[in-house]
Amino acid sequence: MNVVFLGPPGAGKGTQAETLSKQRGMEHISTGEVLRGAVDAGTPVGLRARKYMEKGALVPDEVVVDIVAERIGKNGRCKNFLLDGFPRNLNQAKALDKTLSGLKDRLDVVFYFAVSEETAVSRLTGRWICSGCGSNYHQHYMPPRKPGVCDKCGKALQQRPDDKVETVKERLKVYRKQTADLIDYYEKQGLLMKINADRDVKEVYEEVTKALDSLNRER
Ligand code: ADP
Ligand code: AMP
Repeated sequence: MNVVFLGPPGAGKGTQAETLSKQRGMEHISTGEVLRGAVDAGTPVGLRARKYMEKGALVPDEVVVDIVAERIGKNGRCKNFLLDGFPRNLNQAKALDKTLSGLKDRLDVVFYFAVSEETAVSRLTGRWICSGCGSNYHQHYMPPRKPGVCDKCGKALQQRPDDKVETVKERLKVYRKQTADLIDYYEKQGLLMKINADRDVKEVYEEVTKALDSLNRER
């Protein structure tokens, strides 16, 4: 299955993608994670991306399109992928179509994680990430056992610089202006499946897996 998770920042895409990709043996491709890795490593891509990410703006299309094409096309083709945070505008969506058709492949489904802006803001501003293993927590909804410390590896938790409230507002604005158009784009292609992501993690997961199972049966 080739799957896209679409939705505003804070909708819970990464949280669901992490579990689903492990359980179903899918390649989880988070462009945000790849870019943060590049920024931390100080690579040319990271140096270029950093100033956009700090502001909450989108990194130029050619940078992310190349990252995704490389990951999808690695060793001929990666069979089951789960794209999280890509595409984020029409140009990226068309580039993805082109990459896939070059590989004689296509998308199977686009899950649209629908949440209110209020929920997205409260999820993002309360998100804490482990500085060691990258595990994801929320100060209220998914708190660690010991405040500020990762349950899994014991390292310190930290807030993403772009999860500060001002940058969160900018990211949601960018989503409304540039990304939300993709709902219509994929709806017209009959690929869109809307998920009510304003519920707890387990309920969202069940809805996504049920939908995937029924798509698998139809194939
Ligand atoms: P996205 O990848 O869409 O930006 P994340 O998966 O990183 O969002 O989730 C944002 C924050 O919200 C994280 O702190 C995560 O722990 C928390 N979270 C994710 N899904 C839910 C949910 N269904 N209910 C409550 N909190 C959630
Ligand atoms: P995310 O982890 O998905 O919230 O992304 C964090 C930041 O990385 C975004 O605010 C953008 O600056 C950048 N980014 C991630 N994915 C993309 C993308 N597909 N296109 C452009 N910029 C991206």
